[in-house]
Amino acid sequence: MKFGGSSIANAERFKHIAGIVRARLSQKPVLVLSAMGDTTDNLLEAAEAALKEGPVSVEPSLERITGLHLCALRELGISNSVPENIKTLLSELGTLLAGISLIGEFSLRSKDFLVSFGERLSIRVAESFFSSLGIPCKALDAWEAGIVSDSNWTAAEILEESWKNVPEILCPLTESGVLPIVTGFIAKNKNGGITTLGRGGSDLTATFIAAACNAKEAQIWKDVDGIMSFDPRKIAAAKPVPQISYDEAAELAYFGAQVLHPRAMLPCRKTGTPVLVKNSYNPEASGTKISGKAPEDAPVRALTSRSGVSLVDIVSAHMLGQSGFLGEVFAAFARNKISVDMVATSEVSVSVTLDSAYALDALCAELSRIAHVELKTNKAIVTVICDTRSSSKILEQAFSVFGSIGVQVEMISQGASKVNISFVVTEDDAPAVIRGLHSAFFE
Ligand code: ASP
Ligand code: MG
Repeated sequence: MKFGGSSIANAERFKHIAGIVRARLSQKPVLVLSAMGDTTDNLLEAAEAALKEGPVSVEPSLERITGLHLCALRELGISNSVPENIKTLLSELGTLLAGISLIGEFSLRSKDFLVSFGERLSIRVAESFFSSLGIPCKALDAWEAGIVSDSNWTAAEILEESWKNVPEILCPLTESGVLPIVTGFIAKNKNGGITTLGRGGSDLTATFIAAACNAKEAQIWKDVDGIMSFDPRKIAAAKPVPQISYDEAAELAYFGAQVLHPRAMLPCRKTGTPVLVKNSYNPEASGTKISGKAPEDAPVRALTSRSGVSLVDIVSAHMLGQSGFLGEVFAAFARNKISVDMVATSEVSVSVTLDSAYALDALCAELSRIAHVELKTNKAIVTVICDTRSSSKILEQAFSVFGSIGVQVEMISQGASKVNISFVVTEDDAPAVIRGLHSAFFE
């Protein structure tokens, strides 16, 4: 059972999830927690301030983070004695921030070490609270639960040996009636350095543990009724998606929906363990079930969109029929470490989309030697997650929407994964496109 930051943002939320967990203790769950509320962001902001403003900024930032945790403990009725392990972490955190402000340096490795305090604190708050309720439990940092990662700071991968370690440690605990409470998001490499799995990585920790322990399912608890057909804050008519495949869910995460970590489907896909996305405010609702199967009846599962996209048109300067053009183009992307999202080609040209955050000067200069390059910014990708075996029908409906609202599509791609059809439009057109597609497919 995984609960994210907003599900444990304060004492009240902790009490709420305690009820949900308690009602399921007979199923021998393992708990995976993120950092409380916005702690990860607050830690990163504290480091930024420490770098910019020096030691003076450390005290207020620290107070904010300390305040959140101590206040939660107090309201949870554990005020008499703040647990020693929490005191120690908070004091280490103060030293670390002071250190960053003095050295004026903040490497990726230090970044991972710093943000790890969020999850290390939250599981210990949970441990003292659940213990006070009489629930036998044990807080474990990911490495104490057997999770070992590579050393790719801020985007580490869980290593193979964890598949064996994790059940060896966690299953005896759950079998003896103890609730393990494990940090999401963080891990350690073989040399003992603390790493993170990337923002939102607690989902991956949870699906990994579920898959490795051969659990009945991985439950990802949120504040909405599962995966939605679109972001309900933007489209009021958005509906929960009852069932979706691992590949569709991964595609949905990758193309912008903030529902799940993009790599979170991998462990459960490997073992066939179902992933359930549930609403902590509506625990009886069935939520979204992610498994190897997608429903046969309705081909369109959900919509998603991502803005801040640039489109690069690359037209070969050479003659038609020359071989190796695409090879040269993509080698230039690789040398510049730029990852592309969508690709469309013809004999003499290739168009790709990429995140506008990339600095493209060096790439464009390199490409200009072999091609005419045109960069178009302020684009959005609107993606229909669907079974592309019905693509003619879906495209017909989509183009009738584009026609009726008078929108020009700049690029189209039907992913090789067979679960997505994506359209590039201008950022300005994206909201109308989404409204139109949502009403055509879901309302
Ligand atoms: N606390 C981390 C983050 O905010 C990990 C997570 O929430 O899954 O990214
Ligand atoms: Mg978080």
